[in-house]
Amino acid sequence: MSDDADVLVVGAGLAGLRAAQVLDAAGQRVIIVDGADRVGGRLSSRRVEGFVLDRGFQLINPAYPELAATGVMSDFDLRSFSSVVRFSDGTSSYELGDPRVDPRRLITSLRHPDLSVSDALKIGLTLAVLRYSSAAQIVRGGDISTRDALRRRGVSSRAIDGVLAPFLRGTLLDDELATSWHYSALVLKSFTRGRPGTHPAGIVALPEALATSLAHASVRLGERVLNVGATGVETDQGRYDARAVIVATDATSAHRLTGVRDPGWRAQSTWWWSLPEQHDTVQLRIDTRRKFLSSALDVSSVARERAPRGCSLIGACANGEFDVTCDEGVREDVARLYGVTTSDVRLIERDTVTHALPVVRPPLNLHQSQVHDDVIVAGDYLQTPSIQGALVSGRRAARIALARLNRSVG
Ligand SMILES: Cc1cc2nc3c(=O)[nH]c(=O)nc-3n(C[C@H](O)[C@H](O)[C@H](O)COP(=O)(O)OP(=O)(O)OC[C@H]3O[C@@H](n4cnc5c(N)ncnc54)[C@H](O)[C@@H]3O)c2cc1C
Repeated sequence: MSDDADVLVVGAGLAGLRAAQVLDAAGQRVIIVDGADRVGGRLSSRRVEGFVLDRGFQLINPAYPELAATGVMSDFDLRSFSSVVRFSDGTSSYELGDPRVDPRRLITSLRHPDLSVSDALKIGLTLAVLRYSSAAQIVRGGDISTRDALRRRGVSSRAIDGVLAPFLRGTLLDDELATSWHYSALVLKSFTRGRPGTHPAGIVALPEALATSLAHASVRLGERVLNVGATGVETDQGRYDARAVIVATDATSAHRLTGVRDPGWRAQSTWWWSLPEQHDTVQLRIDTRRKFLSSALDVSSVARERAPRGCSLIGACANGEFDVTCDEGVREDVARLYGVTTSDVRLIERDTVTHALPVVRPPLNLHQSQVHDDVIVAGDYLQTPSIQGALVSGRRAARIALARLNRSVG
C-alpha cells in the first residue's frame, strides 16, 4: 500500500468528503479511509419496520453557503418544513411564524403570553440585522454567551426563557444558552435565509450525494486508522504513504490521533414514534407544560416516504442522555402535543447520541489553525458544530493540502 495517494483523508464524514471533493476537482489522487462501514459519520439513517429513521434529530438548512458550494443541492430532493412553530401545553397553543411568509403570523405570534410587543420588536430587529449581515460581520468583536447577548439587546428574561431558549435549545443542544452568541447568531441568520428540511431517504442522502460527486477519489470503508504522521498513516490493515494527510475525524478521535484539543460534547436523545397519520401543517412543536422535550417534529408530513401508509413518523428529542425509564413520560408528552391518546403513540426506537455536537463556548474562533504537528485537521469542532461548519473545515483543509503539494512541486 505504498505511495498510493497525493492526499490521504482519514474520515468520510462531511468534513472528509468535502476535503476530498475539493482535492478531487483539483486533480489530486485522494484516498479516504473510514473505520465505519458507510460514509457520513454522524449523519446516518436506517430503515425500521417501513420507517426511515435518522440517528438523532437532524435537519438540512439549504441556506448554508458551503452546502450550495458543494454543487450537490441542485439534484437533492430536500423537503422543507414550514416556518411555523407551535408552543403548546396541550390545552392552549401559540403559533410563531415568519411574518414575511404570512403577515397574519405577526398577530398570532403576539398572542404568545411570554412575548410582549417590545420583545417582539427587539427580536425582530435582531433577526433583520442578522439576515443582512455577512458571517464576517456577525463574528466581529467580542463574543459572549447567547443568554447574555440577548439580555444586552434588551430582550426580557420572560421572552428568553419562554420563547427563544425553547426554540434554540433543540438546535444548540444547550438548555442554558451558554453557547457562543456568535455561533447562535450564525444559526439564526441561516433560519432567516432558508427553511430546514429533510430527505425522503433520510439525512444519509447528503453524505451519499457528496460521495457520489467524487470523480476519482477512492473510499475505503471498514478500515480503522491507528496512527498518523505528516506523510502517512497506519491502519488496522496496513500502511498508506501520501504527500499530505488530513485527519477529518470527530474531535475525540482527532485528539487521540493528533493531540488536537477536544472541546467536549453535547448529547441528544431522540424518540421515534409512530402515530395514526396526522394532517396538520404545523410540523415543529414545543411542549410548554413539562418542558422536557426540546421539540417534536412530524417528519412524514413533508416526506411521506418515511412512514408506512396510514402512519406518521414523529421525532421527539431532548438534550442529554436518556434511557428506557423516560419512554413513558415522552409518550405522554407526544400524545398531548398531537392531541391523541397514549395508546395511539407507539415507540419505534430511541437514539441516544452521546457525542452529538462539540461544545462551542465563547469566544467562537473560526480561524483556528488546521495544522497540528504537520498533520492537517478538519472537522466541525474547528468551525461550527453543523453541516456548514464541517464542510467549511473540509474545504479549508483541502486548500492547505493543495498549497503544500504545489510547494513541493515548485
Ligand atoms: C444528533 C445530531 C443532530 C444534529 N443535527 C444537526 C442539524 O440539524 N443541522 C446541522 O447542520 N448539523 C447537525 N448536526 C451536526 C452535524 O451532523 C455534524 O456537525 C457533522 O456531521 C460533522 O461532520 P464531521 O465530518 O466533522 O465529523 P463526523 O461526522 O463525526 O465524521 C468523522 C468520521 O471519522 C471517522 N473516524 C473516526 N475515527 C477514525 C479512525 N481512527 N479511523 C478511520 N475513521 C475514523 C468516523 O467513522 C466518521 O465517519 C447534528 C449531529 C448529531 C449527531
